[in-house]
Amino acid sequence: MIPAKAYAAVSAAKPLKPHRLERRDPRPDDVVIEIAYCGICHSDIHTARSEWGPTAYPCVPGHEVVGTVVATGRHVRRFKPGDLAGVGCFVDSCGACAPCRAKEEQFCTRHVAFTYNGTELDGTTPTQGGYSTHIVVREKCVYRVKKGVPLARVAPLLCAGITTYSPLKRYRIGKGHRIGVVGLGGLGHMAVKFGRALGAHVTVFSTSPGKERDARKLGAQAFVLSTKATNFEPLAGSLDFIIDTVSAKHDFTPYLTTLKNDGTMVLVGASPEPNEVLPMPLIMGRRRLTGSLIGGTRETQEMLDYCFKKKIYCDVEVIPATAINKAYERTIAGDVKYRFVIDAATF
Ligand code: NAP
Ligand code: ZN
Repeated sequence: MIPAKAYAAVSAAKPLKPHRLERRDPRPDDVVIEIAYCGICHSDIHTARSEWGPTAYPCVPGHEVVGTVVATGRHVRRFKPGDLAGVGCFVDSCGACAPCRAKEEQFCTRHVAFTYNGTELDGTTPTQGGYSTHIVVREKCVYRVKKGVPLARVAPLLCAGITTYSPLKRYRIGKGHRIGVVGLGGLGHMAVKFGRALGAHVTVFSTSPGKERDARKLGAQAFVLSTKATNFEPLAGSLDFIIDTVSAKHDFTPYLTTLKNDGTMVLVGASPEPNEVLPMPLIMGRRRLTGSLIGGTRETQEMLDYCFKKKIYCDVEVIPATAINKAYERTIAGDVKYRFVIDAATF
């Protein structure tokens, strides 16, 4: 076994604290990674606090992982010790169902082994995430990371990056499109960067007036303070697409009314509370309200390679492990520019 230092949530109400893990020795198709950085996603907070349902404690969160390969199983071909590698939101899947064959493993119909608060394919061994010094992952769920890239700024691509890239690609967003990004946090700031890189006109909807300057620096051409209803009026029927990254309950209606006929609003923000949806803004204009879940292995590697080529990285604040609980509070308060990333050397 491989001893690893970590931080774990031990109950919904208590702060995370130092924790010890034993990672398994590599199986023939496993990759052992010494973690360099792990991002803090709002999903870590929802899970650490059992906001989406009961979490299995102790839980080591973290699914935005980058590091160096230190050992490989004998069947591993794509990695060797010394290579850089990334791990995202899942560490295994059945490999045989239709979504797995299509490399959309996040929708595996048998068993997705999520990176934490899940189980390995045996259905019993708990998975533990990237707030840790080491992780052992099946090769097919490990991504290649180019040498020389800013690793701390790459880590959040493994969730915030792919979650925003995937729907923009699926709905073929590009030149000539006007898109809206709701919420300027970890996911939101990457949606702005990708939207702009793909050639779209980007409007940010935010509850934080202080974020306007950042939104424009990130590439947005317009900013709407979403706390005032009348601010939506000039945009009625003008947008092709909206990506909603908000982590808490909020009214979808004002956003839907800014869509053109047949426009699409994709929810990636996963508020734990139910939402009322008024039918009329969907009926009028035949608008669509849908969702999207991270991305599969093929698209995640494609997104990383696109980012390396275009030098698209996350804006991060690197913190030591001792600052994790404070970072949670600041993330909830919307006070993050725009992703906290833990330096794994500090565990
Ligand atoms: P984050 O960094 O905390 O950003 C969320 C942003 O939403 C905040 O910065 C804030 O932006 C806005 N917001 C927060 N509370 C709000 C409220 N009550 N009303 C209106 N706006 C509010 O979170 P994140 O890491 O980007 O994650 C966002 C959500 O996506 C979470 O629910 C997370 O679990 C989910 N997620 C989903 C997937 C997926 O595959 N679908 C993947 C990763 C994460 P402003 O200050 O600009 O208003
Ligand atoms: Zn995430």
